[in-house]
Amino acid sequence: MNVAVFSTKPYDRRFLDAAVSGRHALNYIEARLDPKTAVLAGNARIVCVFVNDVVNEAVLDEFERLGVRLIVLRSAGFNNVDLAAAGRSGIQVARVPAYSPEAVSEHAVALMLSLDRHIHRAYARVRDGNFALDGLLGFNMHGRTVGIVGTGRIGQGVARIMLGFGCKVLGYDPEPSSACEEMGVVYRPLQDLLATSDIISLHCPLTPATRHLIDAAAIGVMKRGVMLINTSRGAIIDTKAAVAGLNEGRIGHLGLDVYEEEEELFFEDKSDEVIRDDVFERLLMFSNVLVTGHQGFFTVEAMTAIAETTVANIDAFVRTGRPVHMVV
Ligand code: NAD
Repeated sequence: MNVAVFSTKPYDRRFLDAAVSGRHALNYIEARLDPKTAVLAGNARIVCVFVNDVVNEAVLDEFERLGVRLIVLRSAGFNNVDLAAAGRSGIQVARVPAYSPEAVSEHAVALMLSLDRHIHRAYARVRDGNFALDGLLGFNMHGRTVGIVGTGRIGQGVARIMLGFGCKVLGYDPEPSSACEEMGVVYRPLQDLLATSDIISLHCPLTPATRHLIDAAAIGVMKRGVMLINTSRGAIIDTKAAVAGLNEGRIGHLGLDVYEEEEELFFEDKSDEVIRDDVFERLLMFSNVLVTGHQGFFTVEAMTAIAETTVANIDAFVRTGRPVHMVV
């Protein structure tokens, strides 16, 4: 079966080639999918996309014209797909519901520890021969209260690690998990969690209900100096409100692996370009802000699992007409 793979990087080819082992013809396309590039799918019946590919109505109309029957996401999140339009076009959508959630959980904790102990600043200082400790004062994780918004697979992984550190872990989720409660997570209403946590880590999906869940009002109820971590989706935080919170000292540390306007930036080398995004540039001016370019998923284990599940979705579709993991 011909498969058009959008937003392909060399590392995607490496893991997909290993998983597919010649069973399907993968046409690797470097371009990001949008209404202008959709035509590159050519004669493929299956299109494979990643998190910043745009799968809107215009793209789906073009795919319907080309005869595309299935879209396989190389991700868990599917907020970039217009599911209603896909339904109208008769195009099925599949995803990778769970791939090594520990990869993202551990990255969230890496951001927490780096910010707390100022590792990003210490690294630069020591290389510059500056061994002064002023400005590098941290705090013990042990005994702190960590609030986890969204206690699904990734949130649960963060909870497990933070409980291991001796933190008190609070959770907020419209669907609380008994496994989390058994582990020691205490569920609280969102406002209570925001008001009492020293560290808040976001792990809910991006939906209309969670867009700008963390806005000026939410930041207003947080403890002064709170650490806020987002490895979920950028638009869960109103970034302008976060910049204001940093200016006022209400947010003491901000760790982001995702950014609401990341489509124009992440996964590309922009080091020779002027970044024309004033909000992003402003974020980078704060020494208590640490941004990584959506790399939470980027471990050998996760990349292997993503490739294998993507190919399993393709295999099942070719065999039975339905992928294994349909997006509902
Ligand atoms: P999951 O489906 O296992 O868990 C999500 C949880 O969020 C569920 O328990 C759900 O009930 C809860 N939730 C839904 N609406 C909520 C709300 N309004 N408030 C609080 N909780 C709510 O998903 P997961 O595998 O844990 O992934 C979580 C998110 O992480 C994904 O949606 C994706 O956006 C993001 N993600 C990021 C990366 C990365 O590389 N940074 C990689 C994978 C996933």
